[in-house]
Amino acid sequence: MDKFVKALAMNNQIRVFLVNNTETVNEAIKRHDLWPSAASVLGKVMAIGAMMGGLLKGDEALTIKVNGNGPIGNVIVDANGSLDVRGYVDHPHVHFSSQKSGLDDALTVGLDGYLDVIKDLKLKDLFTSTIALQSSLASTFNYYFMESEQTPTAISLGVLIDVDNTCKTSGGIILQVLPNATESTILALEKRVQSLNQFSQLLDTTSLIDILNLLFDQDYTLLEEKATRFFCSCSKESFARALLTLGWEELDKINREDHHIDTVCHYCNSTYHFDEEDIKKIMKELTHE
Ligand SMILES: [Zn+2]
Repeated sequence: MDKFVKALAMNNQIRVFLVNNTETVNEAIKRHDLWPSAASVLGKVMAIGAMMGGLLKGDEALTIKVNGNGPIGNVIVDANGSLDVRGYVDHPHVHFSSQKSGLDDALTVGLDGYLDVIKDLKLKDLFTSTIALQSSLASTFNYYFMESEQTPTAISLGVLIDVDNTCKTSGGIILQVLPNATESTILALEKRVQSLNQFSQLLDTTSLIDILNLLFDQDYTLLEEKATRFFCSCSKESFARALLTLGWEELDKINREDHHIDTVCHYCNSTYHFDEEDIKKIMKELTHE
């Protein structure tokens, strides 16, 4: 089971989010037939999604969209306060293998584009922030937290893809400096962050709680320990509602010409089949309006 933890550390001056989302990424690989570079990028954005979900209440939700005009196209991740995460990329069959730096996220995503974060806090309007992509996914999200939430942040993300193209390990850590942090805390934190260079290796061999112990010794308070998973809320009913927007005449035409509609959910790749009877049922709802 994938895990998420949230903690306050260093005398309550640092907020910590930590996730291991290996199973989530393997589910995404299976559903979307992701090649390794695509899996690395989506896995990292899904890790960020799960950790940002940790800032939301149960029914609040957010969507992360990354597009750097690279071969992968759009990278889209949804997460909610229950830490259900789903996501997809436009082009799953992307792989680069640069021997020095492993899987090359920048080549896969491209650098010429934007990160959008759209938050649904169940208020009247959605909140959208847009920032230019930086040289890496981690630095892009660092910049996002600084620009849109005025919070100095350090982020490490790691995905290891095995020789059989499954995900060996995936996860991330977000460290945020709270307003009450002293200069000496920030300096001490910087030193500890440097020890996270091999973050994906660490994640592969160490539990989240042991990573907290490693980073902060006993100087932290665990606020939350939760499961996170790949979960898509789509259903045949939700697609039936979407088909209503085609209108009676268009549905009638489809029924006469094709006798069915197959809809595919981008997020989870599930297919829903609507036969003539199903379509007639939808048309009936339209005549009642
Ligand atoms: Zn779905």
